[in-house]
Order: sequence, then C-alpha cells, then structure tokens
Amino acid sequence: MKTEIIKIDRERFEESELAKAAEYLKDGKLVAFPTETVYGLGANAFDTTAAARIYAAKGRPSDNPLIVHIADVNALGELAGEVPETAYRLAEALWPGPLTMILKKSEKVPKTTTGGLDTVAVRMPSDEIASALIRMSGVYVAAPSANLSGRPSTTKAEHVIEDLNGKIDMIVDGGATEIGLESTIVDLTGEVPLILRPGYITAEMLAEVLGEVRFDEALLTHSPSEPIVARAPGMKYRHYAPKAPLYIIEGKSEDVVRYINAAAVKNAAEGKITGILATEETSHLYKGGMVFCVGEREDGNTIASALFDTLRGFDETGANVIYSESLADNPLGTAIMNRLLKAAGYHIIHVNSKEEVI
Ligand code: AMP
Ligand code: MG
Repeated sequence: MKTEIIKIDRERFEESELAKAAEYLKDGKLVAFPTETVYGLGANAFDTTAAARIYAAKGRPSDNPLIVHIADVNALGELAGEVPETAYRLAEALWPGPLTMILKKSEKVPKTTTGGLDTVAVRMPSDEIASALIRMSGVYVAAPSANLSGRPSTTKAEHVIEDLNGKIDMIVDGGATEIGLESTIVDLTGEVPLILRPGYITAEMLAEVLGEVRFDEALLTHSPSEPIVARAPGMKYRHYAPKAPLYIIEGKSEDVVRYINAAAVKNAAEGKITGILATEETSHLYKGGMVFCVGEREDGNTIASALFDTLRGFDETGANVIYSESLADNPLGTAIMNRLLKAAGYHIIHVNSKEEVI
C-alpha cells in the first residue's frame, strides 16, 4: 500500500487541506494525525473492519482497547451508556485536552473498538488539526498511538513514517506534537475515579475537579518509590522500548554519573556501544558513549516532549545498551517515569558511592 503524506504548516493552516483525510476516515481508511499528546492512528470507531485494520497495522493485540476521539462534548451521550455527572464536570474543566475518560459503553460502540470490554475510552483533543479532522470526517475516530506495538509512541511524522509507512492510507504531518506523552486516563465507572495512566493532567488537577481520585493499584506496584531491583522480571511489560536494553540508574547524581562512566568504559572494552540518556545538568560529565540530553531536570514539559524522540534516537546510534538517569524530579515526573520504567522493562539499578559496575 502506498501511504500518502499531507504536510500542514500550522502557521497558515486551512481546513480544506484536511478534506481528503476526512473523506478517508469516513470511508474506513487509516489516517495518522497529530494531537497535542502524540500522533494517533485513526479510523472510524463504529466500523468494525476499520478497527481490525488498526490492530493489524500496529501489530497490536486485539484485546488492547482503542481510545475514541471526539470533537464535541455531546458525543458523550451517544458513546456512553450512562454519563456520570463527574464526566461532564471534567469535560467542562479539562476538555478539549489531554484527558481520556473511561465510561460504560453504549450499544452503538462495537466491541472490536473496546477490545471486548463493556467500557469505552473517550477523549476530545485540543490540537486544532485533530479537532478539525474529527469534525470534518463526521465520525468518531478510534485512535491508538501511531506506532508499532511495543515501540515508543510517535511525536513527529518522521516517527510515524518509520513505523507505519506502507501499512496505512495517509499521514497528516503537522510537525512535532506539543506535550509528547499520551493522555492521562481516568476511569469513571467505579465509586472513586481511578487514574489508569498518568499524563500531563495530574492527579492534583483531577482532584481539584472531582474531590477524590486514586491511582490504580497496578501503577502503584511499579511506582518509582517502590522500585524493582535490577534485572527483576517484567520483560513482558516492556513498552515504549528502544531496540537496545535500557537501564534506569538511580542514586545521588555524582554516583549515577560515576557508575555510567565506568559502565561505558567496560562496555567499550567488550566492543559494545553505550547510549546515555542524560540531563542538561550532567551531559558534560559523561566521558564516553552516545550522550543524548533530554532537557533540564526540573523542566518536565521539555523532557516529556523530547522523551520518545530521544528513545528512538538511540536506535540510529547502534547502541547495544542504554543507561538513563532518573527523570522524576519535575511536575510531570510521575507520567515521565511511568513511560521510562516501561521502556526499561522495570530494570532499575540503585547505585551508591561503593557500587561496582555489574
Ligand atoms: P494508546 O492510545 O496507544 O495509548 O492506547 C490506548 C490506551 O487506552 C491503552 O493503554 C488502553 O489500554 C487504554 N484504554 C482504552 N480503552 C480502555 C478501556 N475501556 N478501559 C481501560 N483502558 C482503556
Ligand atoms: Mg500506545
């Protein structure tokens, strides 16, 4: 299949440029498009064959449900069997934006879209290209992240081309996405709202609207405050992953730098290339290896928008092993570490001043 690419200059964007992409979505075709979070791979959410094609193109297990993207809050009534009052409050406060709500699904939503579940995930993106495209298509757009399953999400059209060229009908290239991490997911089907995936919308922002909100147990088990020791099991959770194995090195900054430098020397002696994911504060302290700086340690916005691009960048360096500093010390630390831990298969190495390189 030939993948058409439509390039859009946001400075002089006109909706007519999206006419063909909108037509394609209406016709059941697959169109990747930018949102404020990451690129989505869209198809008509009510078309069961279109959803199946998304799974096939991504190599995604068909029990992993898709998020349905809308352009108007009124869509909630059609997609959800019942819409709790909390959903309208969240929509009022935080939509359009990087927040996905899980609700009981209506009869109309096919189970192919929800991975067999009785619930549906709904999001109203704020990105003007995404929003116009959904509205112009006249359909609700089921869209997971536009990457091959298991790979880092895509934050640039180039990433989408890398993963999906020849497998989908069209890519709308709107440049780099703003936030760079997938939406926060909150489940509103239980008694207490549950955060299933942390993102740009923080627990504090949700609590301000909802009162009580909790993190899903599964997130807490693997939280950075309860780290799993190096080489612990968890490979089956590997996700967002670069090609080489990734280790997160935690400890005092000088111990982390010393450990990674020693590891790079040892790896080089074995003929291996070391990738290092560093911060502005430390980049200059590394003596060897391929050093990529992801931003200032306290600047969560910059780190979030650069993270997936940086992880993908290591593939081009031929790195055989990658070490990352912890990126928890910023307001988006919970969301960033959630992705980084998955990319690392939960491999964390705690170092102290006496640590030997293993
Ligand atoms: P992606 O858009 O690729 O980030 O994937 C969508 C995410 O939303 C996946 O992590 C899904 O597991 C999650 N998701 C979608 N629908 C539901 C649902 N009904 N219940 C829980 N999680 C969902
Ligand atoms: Mg994804």
